[in-house]
Amino acid sequence: MKNEGIEGTERFLSPGRGRGRGLRAVRHFAVGELVFACPAYTYVLTVNERGAHCEHCFTRTDDLSKCGKCKQAYYCNVDCQRGDWPMHKLECVAMCSYGENWCPSETVRLVARIIMKQRVTTERTPSERLLLLKEFEAHLDKMDSEKEEMNQADIAALHHFYSRHISDLPDDQALTELFAQVNCNGFTIEDEELSHLGSAVFPDVALMNHSCSPNVIVTYKGTAAEVRAVQEINPGEEIFNSYIDLLYPTEDRRERLLDSYFFMCQCTECTTKSKDKAKMEVRKLSSPPEPKEIQSMVHYAKNVIEEFRRAKHYKDILFSLEHYH
Ligand SMILES: [Zn+2]
Ligand SMILES: [Zn+2]
Ligand SMILES: [Zn+2]
Repeated sequence: MKNEGIEGTERFLSPGRGRGRGLRAVRHFAVGELVFACPAYTYVLTVNERGAHCEHCFTRTDDLSKCGKCKQAYYCNVDCQRGDWPMHKLECVAMCSYGENWCPSETVRLVARIIMKQRVTTERTPSERLLLLKEFEAHLDKMDSEKEEMNQADIAALHHFYSRHISDLPDDQALTELFAQVNCNGFTIEDEELSHLGSAVFPDVALMNHSCSPNVIVTYKGTAAEVRAVQEINPGEEIFNSYIDLLYPTEDRRERLLDSYFFMCQCTECTTKSKDKAKMEVRKLSSPPEPKEIQSMVHYAKNVIEEFRRAKHYKDILFSLEHYH
């Protein structure tokens, strides 16, 4: 595949402190508009959702058939089962032989799939129109001893559960980097009620920098990510996603971002702290809030829900359009 970019956007060097590369708009995007969609480079269904969703396309239905060998993976039909086999084969036999002792973490499962995918992929994938997975930041220099230990445990688990099915695993240094890259750039796929369905990598989505007042949100359709405007975006403006749950006050958000993504957030929300009061009150249960504060909390929550609704509404419209043409 040639590198054709993503229409309406471009990769650029963001002027923000320590941000490095980012994504910016080259045309106007209205609220609710789809900025771009990105298929997963690779993904994995979480163990708890087995039997409820198809392992291959994440469709939720009662009418799934299970893998005849391991009896643990479920599929819509033979096509989904065949499509999933290159990845499922890494786990199918292993799950049978380990039985109850088969317990790699979701990150380990995802990394095993990335390694397999990299082996069979020679060209830029449709998930990497602007950013290659190989270009992911690893921030190895910023890892503390706790993170290093976790990283080593993941590598050990990968060897333990997957070395029989992946010949010549990369060396420890390459694996350390890969796990660190996935920890900083991986996504969790959620359904519409925001429950966890699985983990995935979406390189082009990972190109966007963070803001606590983002102008897009990411939703999922099956195993693909959809990036949709929640604020008006004008040509030349940077496109920001949020990496974290925004229902926390500034100090908590900054701590979380520093710990997981290694940067001090300097977004407008973090500098003005305009919504902190409402956010703090949500968490302070001992003193009942004043009616006026409740009003402001409700107002804030309504806005967040409204943003989601709007995005979902446009998603539904787009979905029906796609199906009637
Ligand atoms: Zn399916
Ligand atoms: Zn199986
Ligand atoms: Zn911020």
